[in-house]
Amino acid sequence: MVKIFIDPGHGGSDPGAVGNGLQEKNLTLQIAKRIESILKNEYTGATVKLSRTGDQTLSLKQRTDMANKWGADYFVSIHINAGGGTGYEDFIYNGNVSSKTVAYQNVMHEEITKAVDFKDRGKKRANFHVLRESKMPAFLSENGFIDNAADAKKLKDSAYIEKIARGHVNGLVRAFGLKKKVASKPTQNKTSGKLYRVQVGAFADKKNAEKLAAELKKKGYDVYITN
Ligand SMILES: [Zn+2]
Repeated sequence: MVKIFIDPGHGGSDPGAVGNGLQEKNLTLQIAKRIESILKNEYTGATVKLSRTGDQTLSLKQRTDMANKWGADYFVSIHINAGGGTGYEDFIYNGNVSSKTVAYQNVMHEEITKAVDFKDRGKKRANFHVLRESKMPAFLSENGFIDNAADAKKLKDSAYIEKIARGHVNGLVRAFGLKKKVASKPTQNKTSGKLYRVQVGAFADKKNAEKLAAELKKKGYDVYITN
């Protein structure tokens, strides 16, 4: 089982970026929770842990400590951008990183940008705490600009949040070779095609036979009269 740590950015007393009636901390939690439930319900091979599942305040150190202690295989931090731009971008650490870190970013970036129609701002590198202090490959996505009217409109739409989450999931599925759960087959009919006939009455008068047949039909039985 691959251990995937999902970190919804900000929370509690830290709302993150705000704009257009939106708060970053709420959007990041929505996206993270959807990623978790899609992975749990539709795929096998991954164990998911969230840094927060509610509106808690967490320091950056608490987040990386949690992932390091758990022994996560991948750290995914979810954010919403602000500051007068538009579109999607993601980050890995700008210091020494493993080749896996680079490979995973390539796959994540490709799948997320495929799932959404945000402007693609590219794959980037930065000296962010969660990327630097996590002991496993780490990735941080910035999903649109909260202070951009067009991006904010998308972020207000739950179907769009779903697309963002699906993009992340598709990236994780490819990066870690997760398998789709097989839908359980409906139970096979035990009679395997054989039909058993039940006779319910023999009548001298055809009218009585028809009366009973009508009653049985009402109850949903297939009825036919023989002589
Ligand atoms: Zn943020």
